[in-house]
Amino acid sequence: MAVVVAGSLAVAGCATDQGTAPSRGGGTSVPAASPVPTAPGPAGAAPPSRGGAAVAPVVVLDPGHNGANAAHPAQIQRLVPDGRGGTKPCNSTGTATDAGYPEHAFTFDVALRTEEALEAAGVRVVLTRPNDTGVGPCVDVRGTAGQREDAAAVVSIHADGAAASGSGFHVALSDPPLDPVQAGQAHVLGTALRDALRAGGFHDSTYLGRQGISLRPDLAGLNLATRPAALVECANMRNPAEAAVVSSADGRQRYATALAAGILAYLHRPGA
Ligand code: ZN
Repeated sequence: MAVVVAGSLAVAGCATDQGTAPSRGGGTSVPAASPVPTAPGPAGAAPPSRGGAAVAPVVVLDPGHNGANAAHPAQIQRLVPDGRGGTKPCNSTGTATDAGYPEHAFTFDVALRTEEALEAAGVRVVLTRPNDTGVGPCVDVRGTAGQREDAAAVVSIHADGAAASGSGFHVALSDPPLDPVQAGQAHVLGTALRDALRAGGFHDSTYLGRQGISLRPDLAGLNLATRPAALVECANMRNPAEAAVVSSADGRQRYATALAAGILAYLHRPGA
């Protein structure tokens, strides 16, 4: 089972995340943002070895949103740093299928399945939340999880809530990049995830981004990450065909298998 930290990466990349009216004076149970020193060293590099024994690489998986967010609006609307000098709400409720299957349940289940596949391959996984019944954590705490855990990669898992006619996945990256990792290795990670999702039978978004990649300035989790980080919007939950896939255990396993394959391809890329 993965270690769980009190933080994680990710802002909402979902269309339905955008309309939350921020308010001040929220509750205190969500961890407050605190500056985290950037750990030196090559992010995303091959695992170091000590005494000849390889050390398992660490990957942070960040399941978007949380099951009790909707019941705690003051806490999740509290403003936190967005990584570009502004602020945005701590977190959001996420979207849902028309039948009511919530994004937070989807992201947590896919994260657990992805964790299982990665740990079977010798990767140590850290989740940004321990269950699907809590509040938060805030996007700034999620966004700095990679550096706290000395992670080789950080992958935030979401699903979108767009117009029903649109479908497909997209991988969001911080842009304009705020450091060389965001400009370089994050793109390598994002491309590996994109290619693995394609290989897993999923298609590029028909309504957002280009070639399955979306360059975004507004996602705090990505902006604040100093380790290679990407946010995957796996599907459009408002599209009937994709709603059926995300609502099924088989469909969620397919997403997890593809995400794990993409992460492993990134970790084991030539020259890493
Ligand atoms: Zn989301």
